[in-house]
Amino acid sequence: MEDLLPPGAEPGTVPTDLEQATGLERLEILGKMQGIDIFDMKPLPSDRVGTMQDPIMVKSAGDELQCGCTGCPADSHAVRWVVVSRARPFERCDECGSVYKMEYIGPPDDPDHPHHGYEDPKTMADYVKPEYWYR
Ligand SMILES: [Zn+2]
Repeated sequence: MEDLLPPGAEPGTVPTDLEQATGLERLEILGKMQGIDIFDMKPLPSDRVGTMQDPIMVKSAGDELQCGCTGCPADSHAVRWVVVSRARPFERCDECGSVYKMEYIGPPDDPDHPHHGYEDPKTMADYVKPEYWYR
């Protein structure tokens, strides 16, 4: 935790990002200095269309992730935002049909601090016959 608190600038000088950034921004800077891409900023693979059997995998340390699909090959269509979550790991692009799947890589759930009643908002998928569900 102390690593994420910067030393600050010498009096009378203008601080650099390294001297003043805190938290996640500082973690990103420290990662870059070591050649580590903390936030995995590489574009998602667009050389194929994801399928249910072979989805485009996206990693998330959070409960939910929004990823942008531009089709296959890249930029085949305007960006469509696809929302995947721990509760709904699979989602399909409504423009090209490419399937994305979220892999949760965050910390394990803490039984002492459960989620406080958060529930994903309902979508049309909640009203589809259960035999058509893919989860
Ligand atoms: Zn798409």
